[in-house]
Amino acid sequence: DAEASGKVCTRFDLEKETELRFEVEAGDGSEQVELELITGLAEVFGSELNRNKKYTFGPGSKIAVFTWQGCTVNLYGKPEVAYVSKDTPMLLYLNTHAALEQMRKQAERDNERGPRVMVVGPTDVGKSTVCRLLLSYAVRVGRRPTLVELDVGQSGVSVPGTVSALCIERPADVEEGFSVQAPLVYHFGSTTPGTNIKLYNKLTSCLAEVFSQRCEVNRKASVGGCIINTCGWVKGSGYQALVHCASTFQVDVVLVLDHERLYNELKRDLPHFVRVVLLPKSGGVVERSKECRRETRDEKIREYFYGFRGLSFFPFSFEVRFSDVRIYKIGAPSIPDSCLPLGMSQDDTQLKLVPVTPGRDLTYHVLSVSSVDDGDEDARKSIVESPVCGFIVVTHVDTQTQVMKVLSPAPRPLPRHTLLIMDIRFMDMK
Ligand code: ADP
Repeated sequence: DAEASGKVCTRFDLEKETELRFEVEAGDGSEQVELELITGLAEVFGSELNRNKKYTFGPGSKIAVFTWQGCTVNLYGKPEVAYVSKDTPMLLYLNTHAALEQMRKQAERDNERGPRVMVVGPTDVGKSTVCRLLLSYAVRVGRRPTLVELDVGQSGVSVPGTVSALCIERPADVEEGFSVQAPLVYHFGSTTPGTNIKLYNKLTSCLAEVFSQRCEVNRKASVGGCIINTCGWVKGSGYQALVHCASTFQVDVVLVLDHERLYNELKRDLPHFVRVVLLPKSGGVVERSKECRRETRDEKIREYFYGFRGLSFFPFSFEVRFSDVRIYKIGAPSIPDSCLPLGMSQDDTQLKLVPVTPGRDLTYHVLSVSSVDDGDEDARKSIVESPVCGFIVVTHVDTQTQVMKVLSPAPRPLPRHTLLIMDIRFMDMK
């Protein structure tokens, strides 16, 4: 039936413990490659493939089909590259999963909490992929681990510029990744932690606290533990943010991907009971250009509003009067210590809500809709540390009539009137 679909079919026979790597050309959205398992068993980043089912991968996909036992697969279409590799770190990753599973078993026995794991390393070493693998393996053996997403540049859970937590209840979908139902999402507002490291650390602590509270009331969540995905920024304040994360989450295990210096530094700086493990990266991980990263971010926002292949959403466009909302930016530009008002520290300025007067430069900005309204002073204080309930994009601003047009996943009216502005912009090309 390869001919029926008019696509070239290529067959690959994989020996045990090897993987087929392929990439689909990035671009305007026309390229697609289908994958079908014909015989044997195989998995994609920890999720098992069904036999004789065609999985479709769109532009820019970089996929590895790994087999423990050996298998035959077909590819339909023209991948940009496709080759089989015998050299993969999968066995080491599986052993890591086995070690974590031992810790969960022990936690169960001793009425303790399960492993809290932080995955670190520079960009493009496969951190997100390792997280996905470990989470999928864990649910496959009946665990309920939590994914903590701290990568504000390339979030696997929500739009860029956010940090979040998600309870994982089933393995990642081969094509779409983890099903994102009811994640807990916080507004950060930019794609790099460096723009406001105080806020970044604050939000990390918020997530840690919420997770710990959940563990207290939910035994399965506690035993399942968490897997924390981090940013690729591993120097200076980025490194400090990792140390902060390890301490606020009280992590037990740190997996360092492909970075010996980082491994040594963390071993030196973290308490001795934290197990720091150096793991190689997979040769299959492809370095992504800045442009590619930007495209992925854009795609993530588009997905939020329009859905993806299997599931289309129909967003709403409506007008919002300036007087009906209050827009804030988190963090005032820093000023020299000597100029700060008495009793105020730099921390205060970075976590401060600064009112934004709507103007034309608001156009295309992504805004988070806070779950809290700024009714009184106390409420206002809690906005920075409260989750958001969704996102809108400003598509047009009319300063004359004091009205802006927004793209929203839900119809009018907005559920809350406190909006937080992101540095991130989205131009809707549909
Ligand atoms: P990081 O989180 O460190 O930035 P990712 O986990 O997002 O890196 O991996 C970067 C890209 O490489 C992703 O598109 C992923 O699908 C791809 N990738 C990861 N592992 C492999 C592999 N073994 N073979 C082919 N592609 C891979």
